[in-house]
Amino acid sequence: FFLYPETWSTFIFLCFIPAIAILFFDSKLFYFSLLLNSLAIVFTFIYIMLFDHGYPYIKQDLIGNVINFIGSQVIISFIFYLTQGRIKKQQLYYEQIQQAERLKTTGQLAAAVAHEIRNPLTVVKGFLQLYQQDARFSEDIKGNFTLLVDELNTAEQVITQFLSIAKPSKETEIETVNIKIILQSVTDLLHSYGLLYDNMIELILVEDCYIAANNIEFKQLLINIIKNAIEASKIGDSVIVSAGRNKDFIEIKVVDFGQGMSEAEIKSLGTPFYSLKSKGTGLGMMICYNIAAKYKGTIDFESTKGEGTTVTIRFPSKNS
Ligand code: ADP
Ligand code: MG
Repeated sequence: FFLYPETWSTFIFLCFIPAIAILFFDSKLFYFSLLLNSLAIVFTFIYIMLFDHGYPYIKQDLIGNVINFIGSQVIISFIFYLTQGRIKKQQLYYEQIQQAERLKTTGQLAAAVAHEIRNPLTVVKGFLQLYQQDARFSEDIKGNFTLLVDELNTAEQVITQFLSIAKPSKETEIETVNIKIILQSVTDLLHSYGLLYDNMIELILVEDCYIAANNIEFKQLLINIIKNAIEASKIGDSVIVSAGRNKDFIEIKVVDFGQGMSEAEIKSLGTPFYSLKSKGTGLGMMICYNIAAKYKGTIDFESTKGEGTTVTIRFPSKNS
């Protein structure tokens, strides 16, 4: 620029200096070069106007050149803004992939550890159960054994439920699930569980409904949700389970009149180990959400604290 004062095109090179900074994908460098370039141009122009006698094209039309310079800086800023947005997104995406990868390995590790822990637990539990029959131990020691077995059972349950989530998923078969039959068998199964606190399960079925899912997994989902409803119910209350078709969806509603949940509690559902029960594992709902997501179903909660909860399970309907 200084060597060839007559050549106007060298001025363009000056205008585009900040563009180089874009290549480094560094916003600080870009703003710094933009500012420095603007200052340098201002001083250069002042110098040219006051002292230098070259640069006829700048002297002829100073305002036009200044506008050109500003215009070029705006264009460069715009390009920078666009590329920066793109690159930020890509970086985020890349980080997410890495994070998912890391979670996957830790998940597999945790599953392996959980599996290894289960075996010694079973052995310990077996021996405790043996000692419970042993006449050499006094009754109050045996009371402790019961407590120990109980705790081991809880631990086992947590591990079993955890493994059913974290296990590198075996390919489960997609079958046609007959809602009527499944609901019948699940309510029969849970009937005796409900009787523990005098809770009845009422089943309302209108028509034959079918969905595409895995029978065992769908059963697991229903058991978890109906069990929660029974556990939330007060002594003597019923749990109402109904199923029906709603446009292209099969809707199963599980209604209880138990303790209910607040807005915040509903939001926490499905968080691993979130449980308000003294003996809860807090994995039930997480399993349910996983199964529902797998077969494109949804689970919605409507609840009022102290009045009860309505769980709506919605799955795409399948023809026979
Ligand atoms: P767990 O049953 O082992 O506690 P879940 O994941 O099945 O774990 O449930 C998590 C928590 O959600 C429960 O502890 C309970 O507080 C709450 N919950 C779930 N279903 C209901 C319901 N129908 N009524 C009231 N609270 C519920
Ligand atoms: Mg539960």
